[in-house]
Amino acid sequence: MVIAQQSLTQHTDHGQVAHEWASVCQRLQAELGEATFRSWIVPLVITNFGGGLVQIAAPTRFMKDWVATNFLDRIRNHWQDINPTIDTIDLIVRQVATPVNLDAPQTAPSVMSDETEIEGSFIGSTLDPRFTFDNFVVGKPNELAYAAALRVAESATVQFNPLFLYGGVGLGKTHLMHAIAWHIKKCHPDRRVIYLSAEKFMYQFIRALRYKDTVAFKEQFRSVDVLMIDDVQFISGKDTTQEEFFHTFNALVDRNHQVIVSADKSPSDLQGMEERLKSRLGWGLVADIHPTTYELRLGILQSKAETLHTVVPKDVLEFLAFKIVSNVRELEGALNRIIAHSTLVGREINLEMTQDVLRDLLKANDRRITVDDIQKRVAEYYSIKISDMQSSRRSQNVARPRQVAMYLSKVLTSRSLPDIGRKFGGRDHTTVLHAVRKVEELMASDREFSEDLSILRRTLEV
Ligand code: ADP
Ligand code: MG
Repeated sequence: MVIAQQSLTQHTDHGQVAHEWASVCQRLQAELGEATFRSWIVPLVITNFGGGLVQIAAPTRFMKDWVATNFLDRIRNHWQDINPTIDTIDLIVRQVATPVNLDAPQTAPSVMSDETEIEGSFIGSTLDPRFTFDNFVVGKPNELAYAAALRVAESATVQFNPLFLYGGVGLGKTHLMHAIAWHIKKCHPDRRVIYLSAEKFMYQFIRALRYKDTVAFKEQFRSVDVLMIDDVQFISGKDTTQEEFFHTFNALVDRNHQVIVSADKSPSDLQGMEERLKSRLGWGLVADIHPTTYELRLGILQSKAETLHTVVPKDVLEFLAFKIVSNVRELEGALNRIIAHSTLVGREINLEMTQDVLRDLLKANDRRITVDDIQKRVAEYYSIKISDMQSSRRSQNVARPRQVAMYLSKVLTSRSLPDIGRKFGGRDHTTVLHAVRKVEELMASDREFSEDLSILRRTLEV
């Protein structure tokens, strides 16, 4: 592969070194996979060889350390396999790009410095000043996530890695992540913290690929003390980004730097995520945020009204907490709307005006159908036992209604496919997907079936 010819000692047989290094590389490529191989091995250069010693140069100190920690043993073992006289592999830093290396990223090594500037938040996202621990209302559904977030923010050592926060939309994941970042920035200003969405991570990665700047990209992320990636489900099914994220993740965790990840599902339920990444994400502490309870919603409303310096009658707050169950974002939105309305038209905040102003929102929140409701109603409709929704019986007269119930669960609730599968006797999400497709097919081809289904659907929706 890459040999810096000018630096090899006189007595070295250049052809032999090249040959041996090529064989070592071949093995490494097979073991590590293309992406890792290209990122970490291709940029290496042999600078000296002889007397049982192989000297290898990496373009930056970071890369040198990384190769030393992760690949040095393999390199040595493979080399000794091929040439048993080798006893030492010496890694050094040499910051020149080598002209012999055709495969390596063309620009990156020569422009890298050891201290890459990452403080300027160009790779991170800005933090919302409202999202602090002080402004976070704690209740049963989020106490674990809150405690874990606070612990990570406060402790000087890494205790669980990664911290994986998950929960439905608008339940406070982003709020908690920003709170951690604010806290660390305040208490440990020397620690380098980066917060960004998985989407932004992907965008930057793609840009780095385009500009052949991946080494710089890697360094930026791998040299932070705390890396937070929000909404990691976004990179599901995006294989190259996932691969890169996996390596970044491993790099940080292996060096005992804190990684914090959020997602809308638990690690094992992340569809389209590679198995090894899923399992790795679940290694640390997995903390879920449950849907809000009435008490928590009321608490959040009270605190929010206080911050807005507005007096909202207790019965209005209670009414909102009772009615708006979907998520905190909607709850806040509702409160904002009635406050705005009252300020704009000078109308007193009371129950009547609340119902008036929020008519559409309240209607949407009324329609809450659970998978249990659906199973019950479908079983009644087709006169089968409700236990058959979970049973493994496959005869058509129970299998079809079960598929119908799965389909309705998918379209009428916000449950994920794996979630629905679990509700149907622990079936796989692919079974649910199959059911959904089957029912859609039948709706298109079978008139009677289609009518049955719309009747069922209407009885559930009222
Ligand atoms: P997610 O990232 O889980 O979708 P966010 O963190 O964006 O949700 O939260 C949505 C909104 O709800 C934000 O304005 C956030 O401040 C607010 N919120 C969520 N949970 C709480 C809580 N426990 N206390 C106060 N505000 C909350
Ligand atoms: Mg969020």
